[in-house]
Amino acid sequence: MLYNTLGKTNLKVSRLGFGTMRLPTKGSNDQIVEDEATEMLTYGIENGINLIDTAYPYHNVELSGSGNSEIFLGNFLKENSYRDDIILSTKSPTWAIEKKEDFDTFLDEQLKKLQTDYIDIYLLHSLTEPIWAHINDLNVLDFLDDCLSSGVVKHIGFSSHIEVDYLIEILDEYPKWEVALTQMNYLDEYYQSGVMGLNYLKEINVGSMIMEPLRGGRLVNNIPEEVKAWWEIAEVKRTPVEWALQYLWNRDDVDCVLSGMTSLKQVKENIKYASNEDIINEYDQEIIREVARQYKASSLGNDCTRCGYCMPCPEGVDIVNCLTEYNIAQMMRDPKASAMQYFSLIGENSRADSCISCEKCLPFCTQMLNIPEELQKVYEYFGSEFDHF
Ligand code: SF4
Ligand code: SF4
Repeated sequence: MLYNTLGKTNLKVSRLGFGTMRLPTKGSNDQIVEDEATEMLTYGIENGINLIDTAYPYHNVELSGSGNSEIFLGNFLKENSYRDDIILSTKSPTWAIEKKEDFDTFLDEQLKKLQTDYIDIYLLHSLTEPIWAHINDLNVLDFLDDCLSSGVVKHIGFSSHIEVDYLIEILDEYPKWEVALTQMNYLDEYYQSGVMGLNYLKEINVGSMIMEPLRGGRLVNNIPEEVKAWWEIAEVKRTPVEWALQYLWNRDDVDCVLSGMTSLKQVKENIKYASNEDIINEYDQEIIREVARQYKASSLGNDCTRCGYCMPCPEGVDIVNCLTEYNIAQMMRDPKASAMQYFSLIGENSRADSCISCEKCLPFCTQMLNIPEELQKVYEYFGSEFDHF
């Protein structure tokens, strides 16, 4: 495993961080397969991963209330006596803060769930302009100051999908930020805060953690033929996962890449890649740029990353799978096979035509998608009956 210094925290972090948002589940998202997840985390820690990231709502069916990821992780760390060996990162559910006291209430609950008396890195989760304005009115910075002075939190940061101007504004408002978690992969250099945000983090020595390194799986699943052709002409052969991760690790403004791993196989592969000091040279960079161009040129789909923050829809629409099946259909260019998948995977009342355009999901989309408009495209493509394919 290779390690980086996480900005001004001075923590030596493994450049692969273990995200616990996509642990294996059975049935619904709150049912973690604990023996499998335990094996994955144990292997990860024993093989050099020292940063584990979770959040208040992870592994809750609704991704808004209290989730089981923190509870599972708390049990795992306690039973295996790993707490002091790892850097524990979790996030405050900013969207649920209604009054000043809520900051402490959530933090206390998280400490109990995690069975610890301190958090190494505490991030304000998914800051947006309205959320930042709201929690600022509730004196969030006083709360953060208190967390640091009491020692219950060692390092403060935030996660966000905002544009670079606003990212810089937030960073400049509070000199005690030490970490920021932003979205980055080779398709998103100029999307959200992108490379300019990372450059600024480096300039002010705020540690950078990366989310969506594989863009919700889009960079590694159902790869278009045009993209495969570019990978094949590269001198150094790498898997699509390896290309995506090495691209990030070769950036000097990236400290830690979080990977939300779902199987032991993924953990083993990612650790192997993270332990290999693989240089992405100028020729490789050109290949990556061509691949990004091909993805953009070949995709008529949407930018959904399958993060699930928009769910559940009050009308029962399976937003994530509707948007994903549409994307796969655009990439595979096999309408009948895609339609078969769409109609068999998604129940009748959860398909795109059940959307009533109420827009309740809009504020939660991390990619700022106009979800009802995207669902309308899905409906226009697939219709409401399999028959017409
Ligand atoms: S706009 Fe459509 S998908 Fe979004 S919450 Fe309303 S019904 Fe559900
Ligand atoms: S529609 Fe937006 S919030 Fe929902 S899964 Fe896709 S990217 Fe995430």
